[in-house]
Amino acid sequence: MYKKGTYTILTNEPLTPTVWRMTLEGDTQYFTRPGQFVNIEIEGLFLRRPISVCDYDGRTLTLIYKVVGEGTERMSRMAAGTKLDLLTGLGNGFDPEACGPRPLLVGGGVGVPPLYNLARTLIARGCAVSVVLGFNTAEEIFYEEEFRRLGAEVHVATADGSRGVRGFVTTVLAERGIDCDYFYACGPLPMLRALSEATGDVPGELSFEERMGCGFGGCMGCSCQTRNGSKRICKEGPVLKKEEVIW
Ligand SMILES: Cc1cc2nc3c(=O)[nH]c(=O)nc-3n(C[C@H](O)[C@H](O)[C@H](O)COP(=O)(O)OP(=O)(O)OC[C@H]3O[C@@H](n4cnc5c(N)ncnc54)[C@H](O)[C@@H]3O)c2cc1C
Repeated sequence: MYKKGTYTILTNEPLTPTVWRMTLEGDTQYFTRPGQFVNIEIEGLFLRRPISVCDYDGRTLTLIYKVVGEGTERMSRMAAGTKLDLLTGLGNGFDPEACGPRPLLVGGGVGVPPLYNLARTLIARGCAVSVVLGFNTAEEIFYEEEFRRLGAEVHVATADGSRGVRGFVTTVLAERGIDCDYFYACGPLPMLRALSEATGDVPGELSFEERMGCGFGGCMGCSCQTRNGSKRICKEGPVLKKEEVIW
């Protein structure tokens, strides 16, 4: 069930040279699970832009986005008080009930935001949450302290070694031997694939930030084949179970 609504920007600020955090006020009752996304109408652009929900409460939501093109560049110039048209309640989201007491959360770049509300939800359930965050370089890192403040054990990897473990999120797993019974991940495709292999028999869920059209299952533009048949990433995804992904 999704809903169209008008939201008012409360804050819009840079976290790094290219990544911004926007908080908005409006109806959040259609958010049912961590890992869902909103689809934002941007004046003058034909397609809405999908962005994961980083966090929400009864009145506000937080989005974190990287400026990569016209839409996100325009978003970064929007001032507090601007009204935005959003489709909310989109996507299946992660299943916080699926894990045991020791879940692992793995995020790469702008795959990190949807894991934040998930971490909060799992910690509230009493889980001991480990988080691995992967970035290219130290200046791209965001939300390391925010995850720590929630009570998660946080590990950081940078590809150039400027902070934390030098290498990828899978390097952290190999070097630090993190013990987990289930994992949740979001990030670039090569990261999701490598992680799927590196976690062996450990089950998990992967969120795919595929390019998409309508965002609510109407246009079939983001259909992909899985072991459970064809799925639309925007509707039956963006989260797929590890065992159903065909690489
Ligand atoms: C379910 C979902 C959740 C997402 N959550 C987030 C999020 O939380 N934070 C965030 O920063 N981004 C997220 N994205 C990606 C975001 O939607 C795109 O970066 C955004 O739409 C780009 O719009 P633009 O107009 O700025 O760039 P465009 O002008 O549309 O594109 C600029 C460049 O970015 C590339 N690009 C655009 N969309 C994607 C994509 N989905 N994946 C890879 N490359 C892309 C294009 O190929 C092009 O090279 C998400 C995408 C999906 C599908």
